Amino acid sequence: MITGKNGHGIRVPIFKTQFTGNEEKYVSECIATGWVSSAGEFVERFEREFAKYIGVKYSTSACNGTCALHLALLSLGVGRGDEVIVPDFTFAATASAVMHAGAKPVLVDIDPITLNIDPVEIEKNITKKTKAIIPVHLYGRPAPMEDIMEIAERHGLLVIEDAAEAHGAMIGSMKVGSFGNAAIFSFYGNKIITTGEGGMVVSNDGEAINRASLLKNHGMRKEKRYWHDVVGYNYRLTNVQAAIGLAQLEKIEEKIELKRHVAKCYDRLFSSSGFILPSEENGTRNVYWLYWVMQASDSDTGKIMEKLASKGIESRPFFYPLSTMPPFFRKGLKNSVNIYKRGLCLPSYGGLTEKQQEFIASVILH
Ligand SMILES: *Cc1c(COP(=O)(O)O)cnc(C)c1O
Repeated sequence: MITGKNGHGIRVPIFKTQFTGNEEKYVSECIATGWVSSAGEFVERFEREFAKYIGVKYSTSACNGTCALHLALLSLGVGRGDEVIVPDFTFAATASAVMHAGAKPVLVDIDPITLNIDPVEIEKNITKKTKAIIPVHLYGRPAPMEDIMEIAERHGLLVIEDAAEAHGAMIGSMKVGSFGNAAIFSFYGNKIITTGEGGMVVSNDGEAINRASLLKNHGMRKEKRYWHDVVGYNYRLTNVQAAIGLAQLEKIEEKIELKRHVAKCYDRLFSSSGFILPSEENGTRNVYWLYWVMQASDSDTGKIMEKLASKGIESRPFFYPLSTMPPFFRKGLKNSVNIYKRGLCLPSYGGLTEKQQEFIASVILH
């Protein structure tokens, strides 16, 4: 039994880390060879293999997804005076990284069924100052990248995908993270694959990745040690983290298939429940980072969450719309504000049994 934050016992957690591959072997190699800091072969191998998996030419790792997003923005030249379009319904890091870069996040509304950014709302919010769009593939479901890229091209805007929750999600034969000028991923403990804390910037733009790599390493020239042309950061991933990441990446398709299996089972259990469910558009692959259910009418999920908790099942509310919180206030966003109270995320880890899922569904439905 795991003890939750509230002190009650939790028998079915929302997420479980799974280390079923070469994690220990690779970490032992780091310790045996002494390469535990940010130099070492696993960093390069993980970066190379991850870029290959996503289908992009270049990548550079970072200490977490938020730093990766900060680096992506800076390396593409986004900064003071720029506006960046961000969905209102996402984890706060999407918007705070924009502010770290000195730019202004412009929150726009979402599609109330897919929960992803609405291209029509993007277009309405473009101004002379708009420099970039950050679509988020929320809860593992691909955002409508074809429409977003078309809008970006027509207006001369950059696109940085926040794929922190969507490793391996696809549109057609392309992975998310390969559509925009750059994309970022997170390897936090509960993401599709993890390095504990960690992140990655990927891009087909070699110069952008070189700049990101320079900035994350104190702005220090590669060929001239202790020479700094710019003010940089220390945003590096360690070899130990990369060792775990490489082992996780070797098993990523297995992990995604397990998650999709869990999602299909929930789909069946809730099919005639009246809940709005996550699904996938034709020709896309949702990786169901977190499976959610959303009440069709305007009622609170608090009661359902309490019921689940009393049976030892952990669940999680939707994100608060960013526009409702002090650092990001913006008035007039309707869909995000309308849906956030109606949804909740359910245990979604690969290996959850159908029996457990049936139990979870019965608690929710009765
Ligand atoms: C997790 C997450 C991030 C930030 O990643 P960290 O590695 O936790 O810094 C950014 N955006 C979204 C949508 C996330 O879910």
